[in-house]
Amino acid sequence: MPRPISASISLPSLKHNLAVVATQLNSFSQQDSRVAPHIWAVVKANAYGHGIHNAVRAFEQAQGLAMLDLDEAVKCREAGWSKPILMLEGFFEPADIAVFRDYSLWTTLHCQEQLDMLGAAQPGQPLHALVKLNTGMNRLGFSAQNYAAAYRQALEAQRRGVLGTVGKMTHFARSDDSVDVTQEQFLLFQEATRHLPGPVSLCNSAATLTPRYWMWPSPDTEQWVRPGICLYGSSPFPNQPAHDLGLRPAMTLRSQIIGVQEVAAGQGVGYGHAFIAPKPMRVGVVACGYADGYPRHAPNGTPVTVDGHATQLVGRVSMDMLIVDLTSVLQAGIGSPVVLWGHGGPSVDQVAHAAGTIGYELLCALAPRVPVSVTV
Ligand SMILES: *Cc1c(COP(=O)(O)O)cnc(C)c1O
Repeated sequence: MPRPISASISLPSLKHNLAVVATQLNSFSQQDSRVAPHIWAVVKANAYGHGIHNAVRAFEQAQGLAMLDLDEAVKCREAGWSKPILMLEGFFEPADIAVFRDYSLWTTLHCQEQLDMLGAAQPGQPLHALVKLNTGMNRLGFSAQNYAAAYRQALEAQRRGVLGTVGKMTHFARSDDSVDVTQEQFLLFQEATRHLPGPVSLCNSAATLTPRYWMWPSPDTEQWVRPGICLYGSSPFPNQPAHDLGLRPAMTLRSQIIGVQEVAAGQGVGYGHAFIAPKPMRVGVVACGYADGYPRHAPNGTPVTVDGHATQLVGRVSMDMLIVDLTSVLQAGIGSPVVLWGHGGPSVDQVAHAAGTIGYELLCALAPRVPVSVTV
């Protein structure tokens, strides 16, 4: 028997979460008499750890997929995805342009070097492009000062038949926690892109789930939103659980109890004796450790569900095992089912919060050694 750890990916949950986003976009658009934004379902990092193939199957209702790894884009095409694919970092060297053409990939254009590569490219199958403006994230994108000139070069490439559609893009730094900063970024975007033609793409999950943000552009603007994390059932907001947003966990990480110990009061548990039993306790050893992607920094008290009962981590997470309190889970013993996060257990966001990180990191870090099954 293999080690009893596994992750299961729920295609119905992925579909449900996409539908939650689409329904919200549609209903607010109707009130505002606008065409609902199109959705780039973000599937970077192996679909946030859920598997590119699963994402291609589950997100068939999305208008496009967005990612940044060429190999993943090729996998999407090979899996039959024929709608648009946006590469969020664009191409990295001239040779990539041929691959972008072969696989009909949309590119982000965020720096002069990319425009120069396009300038040197022979006309061919035109690439669609979004020219990215840095409005305050200070990650990728042209400065407001250089933006119009960059856009003109993109339009020139369009006239030469090197580019097809040319549109505008930016990325919010604080759409999860600051209206003021987000509004400032949007006003800068408006100012710098005024009079430039083409579709617009602004919103990640937090902004997509905050209707007023995507309703800032005028109703006749063709708009594409770029939700990622919410599609996987994790909340983009620090203070709003995914469940309250109507989202369902798409990944469930399960294991079993493989050992049980009776610990006397005052005895330590695990490496460094980071937990000292305050009273006589029964603890269970779970086949799941940091080499499976469980966060090593998860402290005492991190929620874990054993045999349907909420309990908690005691002691340090080790490479292949972690230890949980079974004192109040009387019926639990070797072979009892454990949910580390997901359906029937704590949310990935609760575990992440306890460990001082975010759900994104835990989902992406699921280790290759964990067998994955898919529910359809
Ligand atoms: C990752 C990413 C997204 C999606 O972000 P979420 O917070 O997961 O919704 C959108 N746009 C860009 C440019 C990204 O890099």
